[in-house]
Amino acid sequence: MKKQVRWKCERCEDGLLAPSKPRLDDVRRYCLPCSSETGKLVERIAPALEAQRITAKQKYQKKVAKRKQIERSLDAVVRDRKKARKALVAHVEKEAAKIWAMMLEIQSEIPARYRLPHHGARQSAPRIEFGVSRTGMSGSGHAWVYQHRIELVLPHRFQSETTWHLLIHELAHCAVGVDEGNSHPEQMYQLMKEVYRRRWKIDISFGMLSGNRWGYEVDDLMEAQAVESGMVKWQVDAAMVKAALIKGGK
Ligand SMILES: [Zn+2]
Ligand SMILES: [Zn+2]
Repeated sequence: MKKQVRWKCERCEDGLLAPSKPRLDDVRRYCLPCSSETGKLVERIAPALEAQRITAKQKYQKKVAKRKQIERSLDAVVRDRKKARKALVAHVEKEAAKIWAMMLEIQSEIPARYRLPHHGARQSAPRIEFGVSRTGMSGSGHAWVYQHRIELVLPHRFQSETTWHLLIHELAHCAVGVDEGNSHPEQMYQLMKEVYRRRWKIDISFGMLSGNRWGYEVDDLMEAQAVESGMVKWQVDAAMVKAALIKGGK
């Protein structure tokens, strides 16, 4: 036999035991004396079931409220990250503008006949696109000289000098221009060296260079000297940088 619950007429308080879910046409759902007195069907209610229903409803409402709260805090995380990225991008762009102006100045001091045919003589710095390296430790960059555009893929683990060096390297590509058959000409490194001197008072030495090999090896050499000097500083809150670099989401 199914568990019985008490059903009760709210009008006359008269009650009886019946299953918790009687069929719709089950006569025990209704109080017949009250129905005949009022001329309308008077339903009985089961107070225990009502209480259960209310508890279930409250539980549900609580759950909904909690979910909403979680969504709100996730929104806040995304908002904070966006804010942090914006600040970081603004910071890098500001530095880029400064370095670009410096590069134009340095270039203008070089006799024209020594300059490469280039597209860097624009007043405004190349457009910068940002990415974050998923795998981590070191960043990378790319320059589209003719489009006056560079990309910086920042390292997930942040090292300021690395990023500034990346920036200088890619900007130098645009400023120096293209030397047929030589993607990393000496002029690029001389320009970068001069930027280090003017911007951070670092005197980069190419003395340790073996032979006449310009390229990534020289970048490593310069970067190591920049790190060693302790002169290159991010004037930006490290926590904010970290927040901006959190995986996922633009
Ligand atoms: Zn009744
Ligand atoms: Zn390069």
